[in-house]
Amino acid sequence: MNKFLLLFLMSCYGFSQSEYPQDYFRNPLDIPIVLAGTFAELRSSHFHGGLDIKTRQKQGLKVYASAQGYVSRIKISHFGYGKAIYITHPNGYTTVYGHLQKFSDRLERYIKDCQYDKESFEVEVFPNPSELPIQSDEVIAYSGNTGGSAGPHLHFEIRDNQERPINPMLFGLDVKDTKAPYVSAIFAYPKDENAIINGKNERVQLRLIPQKNGNYEVEKITAYGNIGFGVTSYDKQDMAPNNNGVSNIQTFFNGNKSLEIDFKRFSFDETKHIKRLIDYEYYKTKRARIQKLFIQKNNPLSLYKNAYDNGYIKVEDSTSSVYKIRIRDYKDNETWVSIPVKGAYQPIEDKITDVSNKSIVYSDKSTVLESDNIKVNFYANTLYDDTYIDFRVSSDTLFLDEDKIPLQKNFYINYDLSNYKTEDLDKLFIARLYGYYKRPSYVYTKRKGNALSAGSKVFGTFTLAMDTVPPTIKPVNFQDKKWLSKYRYLKVKIDDDLSGISKYRATVNGEWILMEYDYKTKTLVHDFNDNIVKDTKNELKIIVTDNVGNSSTFEAIFFRK
Ligand SMILES: [Zn+2]
Repeated sequence: MNKFLLLFLMSCYGFSQSEYPQDYFRNPLDIPIVLAGTFAELRSSHFHGGLDIKTRQKQGLKVYASAQGYVSRIKISHFGYGKAIYITHPNGYTTVYGHLQKFSDRLERYIKDCQYDKESFEVEVFPNPSELPIQSDEVIAYSGNTGGSAGPHLHFEIRDNQERPINPMLFGLDVKDTKAPYVSAIFAYPKDENAIINGKNERVQLRLIPQKNGNYEVEKITAYGNIGFGVTSYDKQDMAPNNNGVSNIQTFFNGNKSLEIDFKRFSFDETKHIKRLIDYEYYKTKRARIQKLFIQKNNPLSLYKNAYDNGYIKVEDSTSSVYKIRIRDYKDNETWVSIPVKGAYQPIEDKITDVSNKSIVYSDKSTVLESDNIKVNFYANTLYDDTYIDFRVSSDTLFLDEDKIPLQKNFYINYDLSNYKTEDLDKLFIARLYGYYKRPSYVYTKRKGNALSAGSKVFGTFTLAMDTVPPTIKPVNFQDKKWLSKYRYLKVKIDDDLSGISKYRATVNGEWILMEYDYKTKTLVHDFNDNIVKDTKNELKIIVTDNVGNSSTFEAIFFRK
C-alpha cells in the first residue's frame, strides 16, 4: 500500500476513535458488564437510549458514578426510568442511571426534602452544579427495578451536550462479544406498482441458506424494476443469551455502496420514527422487526448514511447482479448476506384493491372523518403515507382500522354527548378495546361541556366506557388500632377496576407522608425511617382517586413508641 494512503487511513481511524474520550467513564457497577439490552436496539416505540446492564437478577447492587461531576437532574416517576439520576461531567457529557431502587444517603436526603416539600412521590429537580458534587467512584445509588422495568437491571446512558444519547460502548466500556450478528429472515420489497419480485408485486420472504462460516447465501431471486430489501437480525454477546441489537448495517449493489444504517447516536425527537425503519405491519402481526434497508418518504431518521437512491436498487431485464448486506455488532464482528438477483421482466396480473368501503387519510394535509356523534381529526403529518383506512361507527363504538399502520403522532377522537343524561357525563371516558377479550383500557380523556376528546397514536377500536366504582385500598402489613413500633414500613395495596388510578394522597395526623407507588405490585409504601411519624397515636388517612374522579378514603389508627 502507498505510504501516504496508509498514513491517511491511520489518521482517519485515529480520528474516529478519539472522537469519544476513552477510559474516561467507568463501568457503573463493580461486576463485569453483561447486557440485557444494547444501545439503539429496537423497542416497541423507540430506540433504546442506553445499555441495560444485568444485575444478577437482584436489586441493591452499588451503582457508582461513571466519572466525577455533579448531579444535574434527579427524576422520580411511576413509569419510564423510575428513580433516575443524571450526572453532568466536566467534559460536557451526561451519564444517566435508571430504574434505581434508592439513592445514596446524601442524595436520598436531598430528594426526600424535595418530595416532602412538593408533597409528591413523583418529582423532577435540576440541582445547581455546586449543590451535589460527585467524586469519581462515588456510590450514588443502588440498582433496582423501578418504573417501566420488567426485571432488576441498571439502565445506563451517556448523552452529549445536546441531550443526544450515544452508544456507551464507543467510550471503551468493555463487554465480551466474540459472536457475529445472526440473521433470521430476509425480505424483498417492490418500490412501486411496476416492480416485480419472483413474479409478485408485494413483500416476498426470501430463502436464507446459512453457510458454515456464519455468513448467509440467499436463493437467487428473479426481479424487475425498483426494489428494496429488509432484514431481521440480532446480536448476542458472550455471557448472556439475550437477542440484542446490531450496531451497523451496510448494503452494496454490484460492489457499490447502496445504504448504511449506523446506530451510534440518535436524538430523542426522532426515536418515534422507529415505526418507519421497521415494517410496522409485519411487527404487529408477527412480532419480529424487519429493518427496511431503504428510505421511504417522511423518514427523518439521522441513522442513515451514504444512501444511493434511498437504498433501492434498479433491476433491469436480462441482467445478473449481486446485492450484499454487511451487519456488524459493537465489537465489529460481522456477518454478510449475499443475494443473487436475476433481472428478467415478468408480467404480473393487475392487482385490484377494493377501497370502496374505506376512507382516505392524507399524510401531508389534515383529514376529518365523521359519522353520527363521532369525529376523528388527523392533522397534517399524522400518517407517513396517504392511506385508505377502515372507518366505521356503530352506536358508541368507533372502528378505526387496526394497529398495523404506523402513526407519527396522535389523531384526536371527539364524542358529542348531547344526547346523554347529564348525570352520566362525568363517569364516561374514551376507552380503547384491546386484546383478544376486547378489554376496555382508559385513553386520557378531556371533557369540555358535552364533548369528550382523546388523542391516540395507535389505530384500533374505541368506545365510551363508564366507571362508577371507586378504587380499592387495602392494608397489607397492619390492622386498625395496632402497635407498629417495630415496623419499618407501612404498606397498602391500591387498585381500580376500570379507568385506573390517577392520584393518591396519604396523611398521618393531617400531615402529608411520602408513600412510594409501584404500579407493578399496586402497592403504596411508607418508610418510617423518614421520621415524619413521631406521635404515639396516629391517624392514617389515604385518599385514592381514579381517572374519572371516583375516590375512596381509607382510615386507620396505629400506635408507635
Ligand atoms: Zn434500558
